[in-house]
Amino acid sequence: MELAAAYCFCPACGTKRSEFEPIRPFRCDGCGHTTFFGPVAAVGAIVTNNDGEVLLIRRAHDPARGKLGMPGGFIDPGETAEEALRREVLEEVGLQIRNMKYLMSAPNCYAYRGIDIPVLDMFYTAQVEEGEIRTEDGEVTEWYWTRLNDEVLAEMAFPSNRGALAYYRGLINASGVSS
Ligand SMILES: [Zn+2]
Repeated sequence: MELAAAYCFCPACGTKRSEFEPIRPFRCDGCGHTTFFGPVAAVGAIVTNNDGEVLLIRRAHDPARGKLGMPGGFIDPGETAEEALRREVLEEVGLQIRNMKYLMSAPNCYAYRGIDIPVLDMFYTAQVEEGEIRTEDGEVTEWYWTRLNDEVLAEMAFPSNRGALAYYRGLINASGVSS
């Protein structure tokens, strides 16, 4: 279900929404309070090693349990995208990164308990600085340093992640560096 359709009560005064159809933004009949349904901001890291391989992880939880993903996650309030990227990579795989560069953004959808949360994924490339990979307990079941072939791309959990990796692969191929 779309988030706007699941949104029934005003968070300011508690008035129940009168419309049956989802409205964007939500506008309260009681007090006029308005809630926007903009996407939640998230970051994804295309982390490479000295051999030009990319770090991918296997997801331990739904959504898309068992599929491949990249280190990343939701941006906390008050955090920059760059801070979120550093934090998520450190939390999920225990690595410090350097040379962070913005690559592209893509809309995503995070299905959680029957509600589809709109997300905007922002992708960065980065290189490993230091640290042994240690995966966060329960978040990640496996990790790989890999080349970006079609089989790997087909296993990505989210189309937004797949699109970013395909775009990155295209840039690398165009620059003549082997990927
Ligand atoms: Zn209200």
